[in-house]
Amino acid sequence: TQWVYTFGDGKAEGEAGMKNLLGGKGANLAEMSNLGLPVPPGFTITTEVCTYYYDHGQSYPQELKSQVEKALSYVGGLTGRTFGDAANPLLVSVRSGARASMPGMMDTVLNLGLNDTTVEAVAKDAGDERFAYDSYRRFITMYSNVVLGIEHHHFEEVLDEYKDRRGYTLDTDVTASDWKALIPRYKSIVEKELGQPFPQDPHEQLWGAIGAVFGSWMNNRAIKYRELHAIPASWGTAVNVQAMVFGNMGETSATGVAFTRNPSTGEKELYGEFLINAQGEDVVAGIRTPQDITEKARIASGSDRPSMEQAMPEAYNELVRIYGILEKHYRDMQDMEFTVEKGKLWMLQTRNGKRTAKAALRIAVELASEGLISQDEAVNRVDPAALDQLLHPTIDPKAERNILATGLPASPGAASGEIVFNSDDAEAAKKAGRKVILVRIETSPEDIHGMHAAEGILTTRGGMTSHAAVVARGMGKPCVSGAGSIRVDYAAQTLTVAGQSLKKGDIITIDGSNGQVLLGEVKMLEPELSGEFATLMGWADKVRRMKVRANAETPLDAKTARTFGAEGIGLCRTEHMFFEGDRIIAVREMILSDDEAGRRAALAKLLPMQRADFVELFTIMSGLPVTIRLLDPPLHEFLPHSEAEMQEVAKAMNTSVDKLKRRAVDLHEFNPMLGFRGVRLAVAYPEIAEMQARAIFEAAVEAARATGKPVVPEVMVPLVMTKAELDLVKARIVAMAEAVSNETGVTVEYQVGTMIELPRAALRAGEIAESAEFFSFGTNDLTQTALGISRDDAASFLGSYTSKGILPADPFVTIDQEGVGELIKIAAERGKRTRNGIKLGICGEHGGDPASIHFCQQTGLDYVSCSPYRVPIARLAAAQAAL
Ligand code: ADP
Ligand code: MG
Ligand code: MG
Repeated sequence: TQWVYTFGDGKAEGEAGMKNLLGGKGANLAEMSNLGLPVPPGFTITTEVCTYYYDHGQSYPQELKSQVEKALSYVGGLTGRTFGDAANPLLVSVRSGARASMPGMMDTVLNLGLNDTTVEAVAKDAGDERFAYDSYRRFITMYSNVVLGIEHHHFEEVLDEYKDRRGYTLDTDVTASDWKALIPRYKSIVEKELGQPFPQDPHEQLWGAIGAVFGSWMNNRAIKYRELHAIPASWGTAVNVQAMVFGNMGETSATGVAFTRNPSTGEKELYGEFLINAQGEDVVAGIRTPQDITEKARIASGSDRPSMEQAMPEAYNELVRIYGILEKHYRDMQDMEFTVEKGKLWMLQTRNGKRTAKAALRIAVELASEGLISQDEAVNRVDPAALDQLLHPTIDPKAERNILATGLPASPGAASGEIVFNSDDAEAAKKAGRKVILVRIETSPEDIHGMHAAEGILTTRGGMTSHAAVVARGMGKPCVSGAGSIRVDYAAQTLTVAGQSLKKGDIITIDGSNGQVLLGEVKMLEPELSGEFATLMGWADKVRRMKVRANAETPLDAKTARTFGAEGIGLCRTEHMFFEGDRIIAVREMILSDDEAGRRAALAKLLPMQRADFVELFTIMSGLPVTIRLLDPPLHEFLPHSEAEMQEVAKAMNTSVDKLKRRAVDLHEFNPMLGFRGVRLAVAYPEIAEMQARAIFEAAVEAARATGKPVVPEVMVPLVMTKAELDLVKARIVAMAEAVSNETGVTVEYQVGTMIELPRAALRAGEIAESAEFFSFGTNDLTQTALGISRDDAASFLGSYTSKGILPADPFVTIDQEGVGELIKIAAERGKRTRNGIKLGICGEHGGDPASIHFCQQTGLDYVSCSPYRVPIARLAAAQAAL
């Protein structure tokens, strides 16, 4: 078996398509090498070795050692150096790299191969002692930290104390002889902490680092991350060993990261940061503030430190050239890591860059306009769920801004919330239903759960490519990073800025689009849906088959739904209208009367209100289909609670509070979700359904007159389990339609259908379809009833089901395709067999979930219906499902 794949010198044994075997980093290093780009030579130990390692009691395949030795001498041949050689040593980096980029994995170790002997050879060869000893001390700290598990602060304390004594402020003040003096002290830290000396043998160092990479695949951080992102442990990680190039060889050397397009806005520009005389992670670690790459960016940021374009024009031009090649080749925006060694540019990584939804849209649309990808590909490029961030509010430009500080605009959108200083507090507050802004000096992978819980993230240190910035953009959360004027005191749980002190719980607002931190809550504006958004949605609409409707009952929701492109209403929950204003009193009169006459009297009061609601809804929807569900919830949900409310209803009904209380007790149910609700209400009290049907038909006549567009209401009967139930209610509806037609002289076209939300209804769909003209799958109830899991009580145990892999996802978020999905398939098939062309839709929460939408497409549904804000997500997901 080939366990090791080499790259370098314009060729490679691997290529970009081999991500499963080589990991993302390794596959792209090979690809860049094949493209003839300047990549330091190296080799990748495959993910299969990782799998082998864990399958065989943490041991390696037998041939691995010799294959690594061979690859090392291949790399040595290309660089003219020998690994471990005292006079002319090859130094390498050891880098982890799974298929998907994965925080939580081992950090990269640089400068491996240095020891007390080789460091002298490096110094002599480079003619630069300071560089050699600076590299050696970096290596000792990094290796000790990453491989040997000795914490950074041990070394930092020694260094800080030394710098203080010498009166130095910066690490760059530390001279070669200082490092020489410090290194023995570093080594003795290791010896003290470990009981063993720092490993001097380069081969021991190398195998130590390789083992640490494989070991990190099973550390808690990595396991947690895989859990959150549904990455199977069986994928394993690869290890990349690569010849070092040095960004810390003085003023003509540098290291940096750059995107081929702006990852926040999507603008086509070389966007990134670099640091002169620095190595590796210095840029992202936030220790020194990096410099701009382009002059344009430098001018915009007002920085007085030179841009890369200014400081190293040749390397800059080379980067521009390479960026063009990479974008054309990968046909997507790239996130690149590079190092300049004495003026020469070396590429160390490229991958498709993470981006905000806004940038994703713009990039997809512009790549298509540039002819690099097709319109269909552009549609496929945007994650529907990420559209959510575009639909988020921004700060009203007219609002007064009490600016506390300005940091970097790290991730767009604005958010207000209470200050919290750690991730556990953020999570706790979120659980308690409060909105928070997570304020940290900087974030690390341990903060992921807090970032998830927070409305927005504010850091006082770090640049646009800091951890906080990158992760926030991925999550679509507003983030302001590097707000350096803010002092955070974790112990006191306070922050001070501009002479003010704020404590945990105080409200602030962050504006991730311009980096501002504002005091208090600030007025927000709804998002703009033109430009690239409209273009891409247009392309999506061209290819999708399924219609997208909204679940809406209020005029505001209906209008929002239409702005977002809804093609009708798939679910109007009439009961939501029952709580508006005073009408709840009439509703309560109806519920609490103990005879039909009393109910009819109360219903007569409700009729004009319902009719007016429907007229408004039909008018807004202007001829688009509207599905109205008859009253569904258990009646007790409308009962008065307080004594005052009781008295109010008693007065309106001319009866006593005591009598009402007795009636309320009668309505009590042990399990209301499986109780007196849905069609059962209409069976027992047909007058309710009659009133609603009358309101619907009269409204349809009125709205059609007003708009000139015919309204075709779809009357939907909930919670049906037998055809007989539906027949009974349908007869009343039909009779009412005839009555209204006789009274008004206008005949309304309409349909009567049912929700399929009980397993029995799904199984008997064949005969139900004899009466029902459409089915709408109520997947919330269907999931509850098929799984026997109460949606309202699931939270306490469902988490263990998903984390233990018993269920692949929360079935109330993503349809359980195997179980609930099979019921839907059966119902669709049997329904169609009875009534060719029966209209099929879905109106549960799942109607806005991309994975469930794919399922709906496969099952042949005609439309999905979801909450208004998810309509664009559903449109895009439906398009992707059709492609
Ligand atoms: P991550 O996956 O966390 O980005 P990398 O393996 O990409 O880690 O390494 C981080 C940084 O270390 C790189 O961006 C680069 O600056 C530096 N680095 C890695 N390998 C080398 C090398 N062979 N020569 C010089 N710098 C390197
Ligand atoms: Mg990297
Ligand atoms: Mg239901």
